Amino acid sequence: MKIILKFGGTSISSASNIRQVANLIKTLSKEHHVIPVFSALSGVTDDLIKITDHIQKRNRDAAKALAKKIIKVHMDLANQCAKNTKIRKELETKMKADLDELEGLLDGMLLLGEVTPRSSDYMVSFGERLSINLVAFTLNDIGIRAVPLTGKDIGIITDSNFGSARPLMDTTRLHVSHTIESLSQKKIMPVIGGFAAADQNGNITTLGRGGSDYTATIVASSIKADEVWLMSDVDGLMTTDPKIVKNAKLIKEVSYIEAMEMALFGAKNIHPKALEPLVAKKIPLRIRNTFNIKNPGTLVTTNPLPETQKTVKCVSAIRHTALIDVRGGSMVGAPGTAATIFSILAKAGVNIMMISQSPSESSISIIVKKNDLDKAVNSLEMNLLGKIIKKVDVTLDVSIIALIGSGMRGITGVASKVFTAVAKRKVNVIMIAQGSSELNLAFVVKDSDCNAAVQALHDEFELAKN
Ligand code: ASP
Ligand code: MG
Repeated sequence: MKIILKFGGTSISSASNIRQVANLIKTLSKEHHVIPVFSALSGVTDDLIKITDHIQKRNRDAAKALAKKIIKVHMDLANQCAKNTKIRKELETKMKADLDELEGLLDGMLLLGEVTPRSSDYMVSFGERLSINLVAFTLNDIGIRAVPLTGKDIGIITDSNFGSARPLMDTTRLHVSHTIESLSQKKIMPVIGGFAAADQNGNITTLGRGGSDYTATIVASSIKADEVWLMSDVDGLMTTDPKIVKNAKLIKEVSYIEAMEMALFGAKNIHPKALEPLVAKKIPLRIRNTFNIKNPGTLVTTNPLPETQKTVKCVSAIRHTALIDVRGGSMVGAPGTAATIFSILAKAGVNIMMISQSPSESSISIIVKKNDLDKAVNSLEMNLLGKIIKKVDVTLDVSIIALIGSGMRGITGVASKVFTAVAKRKVNVIMIAQGSSELNLAFVVKDSDCNAAVQALHDEFELAKN
C-alpha cells in the first residue's frame, strides 16, 4: 500500500520519541510505500506566533528570548537524535542554516517593526521546516535514505490567502506527483513538513492551524495514496470525552461526513478542510496512536460497515461559551434583520457557533466563544440598540452538547429520547438547533449541567457498548 503517515508534534517531542517514530517508519516501509508528513514540535508554532505578536508590539527582548528558546530546543535535539558522528554533523549544519535564516528574518521584521500576513506566514512556517530535519537525519542514521522537504519544496501551490491558504489542486497534483515519483525512483524517502506551502509567486503560505493534516491529504490525493494515517497520542475518535465519561469507547468506523462534524466539534482536532481532498478519491483515513500501534484506531471512509452504524456515534461538548439573546418587536417581519446582526458580528471578528430564531421572529439566540462575548455585545449595542433591537441579554457559562451520527437521519423519536434522558437528570435545556442534514443535534445547557447531560446521553444511546 501507498500510505501517507502524518505525525503530530507530540509524536516527536523528544529524541527518544523521534527515534521511535523513525523506527516505526522503517518497519512499516518494509511492507508499504510510506511517505511521512510532520507537524512542528509541540508548542513551537504557538511560540512563533507569539514572536510575531512581540514584534508588532516592539517587544524586541521578548521576541529574541523566544527565538533563543526555539533555537536551543532544536539544536539540543539535533545533537541527540543521530548516533553516527558524520550524520549528526550534517544534521547540525542543516539545522544551523535554517535557524540562521529564522534569525535573519526576525531581525528584518524587528527592524521594520511590522508584521504582514505574508511575513507572519514565513515566520510561523519555520516550525515544520525545523522538525523535518530532525526526523530525516534520524532516518538516515538508522539506514533509510531520506530528505527533509517543505510543502513548498515538494510543490504544494496555494492561493495567496496568507494564514489560511487553499491549495490550487491541479498544479499541486502535477508538481507533487512529479517530485515524489522522481525521489522514489532514486529510493529516497521525502520527509515532508506540513502546514506550509507557497503561492504562485513563491511566497510561503500556511494552511491554517492544524494544517499538517491538510498537507497529508493534499499529498495523498496528488499521488493517489491508498490510505492516510493521522498519528497522534490518542487511539482515535472517542464516543465522548473520556475525562467526562470513564467508559468512553473508541469509535471503530465513521463516514467522512461524520468525521467532519466531529472535527468541527473538536472531538479530535482534525483540520476542517483536511477531508476534502480524500472524499473525491475515496481514500480512507485512519486515526491512530503513535505510541499504541497495536490499536487499529478509527477508520474514516465513504461507507462504514453496516455493523458499525449506530443512530448516534458520539456526544461532544464545547464548554465555556456564552449565549446572546437579541430581542425587539421591530425585528418581526423585517427582512434583513438577521443579515444586519450577523454582518455586524462578522465585522467585529466574532465567530458564531450556533444560531436559533423563534418563528415569531422577535428574538434571535446566538452562541459565541466566551472570549468573543464582549466584542459581540459591544458591537451589537453600539450599532443596533434602540434601532432594530430593544434588548440584548447575555447568559454566561453555557456549554453546547452535540450528538453526531448519520444514523439519526429520518429516524423518529431521537429528539424525544435525547430530551427525556436529559430531563431525567434535571438538566434544563436553554436552546436547541438541528441542521436539516440531521447529522447532528445540538443543544445548550449551563456549564454546570454539561457533564450530567453528556453522561445521560452516553448511557441512553449505549455508546459504551460495542
Ligand atoms: N504546526 C501547525 C499548528 O500547530 C500545524 C499542525 O500542527 O498541524 O497549527
Ligand atoms: Mg499542531
